[in-house]
This record gives sequence, C-alpha cells and structure tokens, in this order.
Amino acid sequence: MKKVSILGSTGSIGVQSLDVIRMFPEKFKVVALSAGTNIELLKNQIDEFRPDIASVYNEKDAKALNEINSFGTEILYGDNGNKEVAVKSDCDIVISAIVGFNGLIPTLEAIRAKKTVAVANKESLVVAGEILTREAVDNNVSIFPVDSEHSAIFQALHCGEKKFLKRVIITASGGPFLDFPKNKLDEVTVEQALNHPTWDMGDKITIDSATLMNKGFEVIEAKWLFDIPTEKISVWIHPQSIVHSMVEYVDGSFISHLGKPDMKVPIAYALSYPERLALESDTVKPVDFSGLTFEEVETNKFPALSLAIESVNQGGTYPAVLNAANEVAVNAFLEKKIKFTDISNILSKIMDKHNPLDTNSLENIIEADSWSRNNTISMISPGVKKL
Ligand code: NDP
Repeated sequence: MKKVSILGSTGSIGVQSLDVIRMFPEKFKVVALSAGTNIELLKNQIDEFRPDIASVYNEKDAKALNEINSFGTEILYGDNGNKEVAVKSDCDIVISAIVGFNGLIPTLEAIRAKKTVAVANKESLVVAGEILTREAVDNNVSIFPVDSEHSAIFQALHCGEKKFLKRVIITASGGPFLDFPKNKLDEVTVEQALNHPTWDMGDKITIDSATLMNKGFEVIEAKWLFDIPTEKISVWIHPQSIVHSMVEYVDGSFISHLGKPDMKVPIAYALSYPERLALESDTVKPVDFSGLTFEEVETNKFPALSLAIESVNQGGTYPAVLNAANEVAVNAFLEKKIKFTDISNILSKIMDKHNPLDTNSLENIIEADSWSRNNTISMISPGVKKL
C-alpha cells in the first residue's frame, strides 16, 4: 500500500489523481491533501479519503474547515501547511499539482524529505530545474513525470540507451487557435482561448496551451527531467492528441506512446511505476486512431514557444523571469485587462529588461521571480494600449 500526499488536490490534476486512487483502494492510501481556496471540494475529499492532515491557503479558511471537519483530520494552512503535506513522515509519494510558482517550494521540500515525487507542476522545473534535479540526485529520489508528453518520453526512453538517442519529439495539439488567422489573434476572447479542443485542464495551463507557452515549458521540463539538450528536442503539431510524444533513435526508429487524451493514464503510471494499473477504459477501435497528422509549428504565429526555448538557452534566471511574467500576463488576460497577443509582447519586453542571475541558489530564483512580477504588473497597469 503506497501512502500518497497531494499538493493541489482540488485542481484538475488533483481531482483526477483522486479518481485513480479511488479505483485502487488496496494499492493507495491518501495521507495528506493541500488546496488553495476551494474548501467545499476539499471538505468532500476529506470526508471521502480521511487524510491525517489537510491544508488550505489562508487561516480564515482553515478555521472554517476546522468547524465542519468531523473526522479528526488536522487542518493546517499557508506555506507551512503545504510543507507539512509535502514532507509527511509516512508518505511514500507526493503528487505535485499546485499550479504555478507556488508549487516550487513544496516540491523542493518533498525532494529534500526524500519523497518520491510525481510532478505535474511543470513551472517548478521551468524555474528551478537545475536545483530540483540536483537535489533529487543528492537525496536519491525519483521524479516521475505526470505531464502526458513526458510520461510518453519516459516510456519511450526505456527502449534504447541514451547514447543512441537522436532526438525527442514533443507533440502539441496546437490549441484552439491552430487554424485561426494570425491577424485575428488580437480579437480572440477569453472564452475562445479556454475552449481547448482535446484536453480539459485548469485555466492557466489552458491559456498556456493556446499561446503554446505550455509547449515551450514542456521543452524546458524535458531538458531537466531527462537531461537532454534543447537542440535535441523538437516540437511537432499533432492536433488529434493521440501520439503523446516520441523518441527517435540513431537508426531511424521512432518509439511513441499512443492513447486517448486522458490524464488518468500518466497519473496512474507515475503513481504505480514500474507496475501498470488496469484502468477502466473502452476498447480502442481502429477509427479512434485513424487520421493522425503531424505538422511544423508556425513559430511566428505563436512566439511564446520560441521565447521559452530562448529563455532556457540563455540560461540563468531567464526562465524564472519568463514564468513569472507569464503568470501575471495570463491572469491579466483571464481578467480581460489585456489582449491575447499582449501576453507574448509583454513577455518579450520583460525578458529584454532582465539582467540574469545565477540559478544555483533558490534565493536568486525567488528574487528574479518577484522582480519579474513587479515589472510585469507595472507594465500592464498603466499602458496596456501602448504595447
Ligand atoms: P488547476 O488550476 O485546476 O488547479 C490548481 C491547484 O492548485 C488547485 O488545487 C488549487 O487550489 C491549488 N493551489 C493554487 N495555489 C495554491 C497554494 N498556494 N497552495 C496550495 N494549493 C494551491 O490546475 P491544473 O490541475 O490544471 O494544473 C496543476 C499543475 O499541473 C500545473 O502546473 C499544470 O501546468 C500541470 N499540468 C496540468 C495538466 C492538466 O491536464 N490539468 C496536464 C499537465 C500538467 P484551489 O482550487 O483550492 O484554489
């Protein structure tokens, strides 16, 4: 029986992780949950899974939850609450599924506490991949990917030694604007951007998928998770989201992982590796896998992808700065304060202004993150129209 802690249990990945755990009560026991502000859903999760501890973002919600919580679950809050969930002494695996930079410290704390980590929170690898992977080696800890593309790569890499690897191909659905005219992207609405054609995810990653920033982040995530230089990572558009990514070996063999778009598959694999769980699913028919197509990315239309790859190639704190600016800009777009195309314009300007710091220290990353947030906020507030 594996004991599981979930950071971000009320989000899209958190809920689907609990769906998997619910199917296998003999294999998994939830010992700790953490959430932000959705205390209603967290209360239901506590009622069903009865963890020893649960944590929310603020003290007020923790008090409210304590009043209605009848199972003796200890209710914590804030950074300390996330930490307690991440390092709980009897937990075997931590699912890192908080969205954004807020996921970094608890993920690092889990690794330092020698917990196996199933990482969905790609932003932590984007901003501090060097530190997280180094600490994982130092602490003899495995980091298993939850992202479907990285789960696919992880599996394909089992088929050949690293020295025979030619490149990794990360597939991208292309998001809702794949066939949208470039000169009309200025006018797209939040509702259109949130209408992803193949995946049902949280709002932030859905917007990142529409700009293709998500794919850029995935290139950085792959670099750190598998220790592969970005020159050996390609991105191909694959609108059907059936081929979740591929690895090409030097002899011209392509090894890929196929499946219907369902995050429960990579979540289950990260939780159960090296075992495979018998997930309930309909039998796939030939028609389900027919008409698979691949095409080049139009990088002019989706500049966020190149910005992300540039940021990691430039090194230092550029990825941290890009990530923070992106979080602020995506939020401003969701609040209808800026246009869709402003997101990439803002990121480009912030990157130009940044003087990078070394990424060996967490302090530098935190400093770069707040520098970028402050600058992006002041860029957005007064002069959006000038962008
Ligand atoms: P959601 O927005 O659906 O969920 C985010 C979760 O984080 C919620 O549980 C939220 O709590 C919680 N949260 C936010 N801030 C804090 C905080 N300070 N402390 C504790 N919990 C917090 O996002 P997703 O589930 O879609 O994505 C989560 C991560 O997984 C992201 O990094 C994303 O890129 C990655 N990912 C997601 C995929 C998907 O299919 N959704 C696929 C691959 C990767 P609350 O709602 O209670 O406020």
